[in-house]
Amino acid sequence: MANETQTTAYRFDTQKVRAGYEPKDHNYAVSPPIYQTTSYDFRDVEHAKNLFSFSEIGNLYTRVGNPTVAVLEERVKTLDGAAAAIALASGMAAISYTLLNLAEGGGRILTSPYLYGGSADSFKKIYPKLGVQFDYAKNILGPEKLAEEITPDTKAIFVESISNPNTVLLDLDAIAKVAHAHGIPLVVDNTVATPYLYNPIAHGADIVIYSATKGLNGHGNLIAGLVLESGRFNWQTEKFPQFSEKYYTLRDKGGNLRSFPEVFPDAPFTCRIRFNYLNYFGAALSPFDAYLAIIGLETLSERLAKQVHSAATLAEYLSAHEAVEWVRYPSLKASASHALYERDWEKGAGGILSFGFKGTQEQRETFLNSLQLFHYHVNIGDTRSLIVNSPQTTHGELEADEKAVADIPENLIRISTGLEDVADLIADLEQAFVEAKK
Ligand SMILES: *Cc1c(COP(=O)(O)O)cnc(C)c1O
Repeated sequence: MANETQTTAYRFDTQKVRAGYEPKDHNYAVSPPIYQTTSYDFRDVEHAKNLFSFSEIGNLYTRVGNPTVAVLEERVKTLDGAAAAIALASGMAAISYTLLNLAEGGGRILTSPYLYGGSADSFKKIYPKLGVQFDYAKNILGPEKLAEEITPDTKAIFVESISNPNTVLLDLDAIAKVAHAHGIPLVVDNTVATPYLYNPIAHGADIVIYSATKGLNGHGNLIAGLVLESGRFNWQTEKFPQFSEKYYTLRDKGGNLRSFPEVFPDAPFTCRIRFNYLNYFGAALSPFDAYLAIIGLETLSERLAKQVHSAATLAEYLSAHEAVEWVRYPSLKASASHALYERDWEKGAGGILSFGFKGTQEQRETFLNSLQLFHYHVNIGDTRSLIVNSPQTTHGELEADEKAVADIPENLIRISTGLEDVADLIADLEQAFVEAKK
């Protein structure tokens, strides 16, 4: 019969439209219903007792769990081959809950200089006040020396699989080995890649983060995030005393206090986020936005494949253009990431590329003002093609020396390809280059 998606080992494209949802469990509705409810009735007093002692898993209150949100969690979990997933109200909530879950009470995170602007900015402004410090690795591109940068207080390595806006690729297999040799997890923000292009867990990641706002949903119509865990990392060590801590809220029916790994042996990291951070800090994803993300995911492969093709085509076009100083896109032979691209990225390296505009600041601004088809704003992974001057906008919070370390020159322009005909995109760029030259 048609509906046994969970139990069989279907391939990626089948799972992206089917995993995590059985119509027979939802009145045979083909499209997942939106469970627009705050709370859920207990059957009886025994049921309430069971839910509160975690001896039965079920819905209690939509802040910590909702059936529509659960479909999204199950689906992305399946696509990534993860042990568990939790959906949250934004990518930033996914990053902050992850980092606090790792380093609450104080600790260091070893990170990459090639990061989303919001991450880099929050690492500087917010976390140090909460006792979490960041070290920007000097050897992230040459991981054989990365071990020297791990201190006794380092709680994790945090990187992006494809960086935004630079499209720097990293050797995650090598970085994961260094992390694991030191008893710390590798955390990977896989937002730009999406599970279609890259599977961080297969390359050694322990925690995977998404902003579902971007390519995962892909329609530029919601804000959402996810955290996934591989289920392979041992959290019950001296480095992570919070995972051995026993809680009154996790007591069994006999009243014995228990730790997260005791109650949730397959999902201690995401369950600790759910019942501590999501429960008490409250960045819950709405059922409606979860529904939109589920629908967006149904076309993930088709969208990404076209966006990759358009990005590679634009990269070739721009590389040959007289008004372009350089182009960054991993499929180009000149790219510093080309060798890793050839090794790990058989479906392509995403829909983001950047180039250096050759000309004055005034010409660069005329170029941007002259574009008619490209949207000019700060998102990525949309169905519509987007262009932005990152150093002055998305990465505008970085100071000059930080931009130098992050390798974001002042004349950088970032493109995120949508689903338009690439010939129309090239024609739009061409007429804007002509305007800028006048
Ligand atoms: C956008 C983005 C985020 C933040 O996600 P929001 O959903 O906007 O909160 C985090 N990481 C990367 C790589 C991003 O592009």
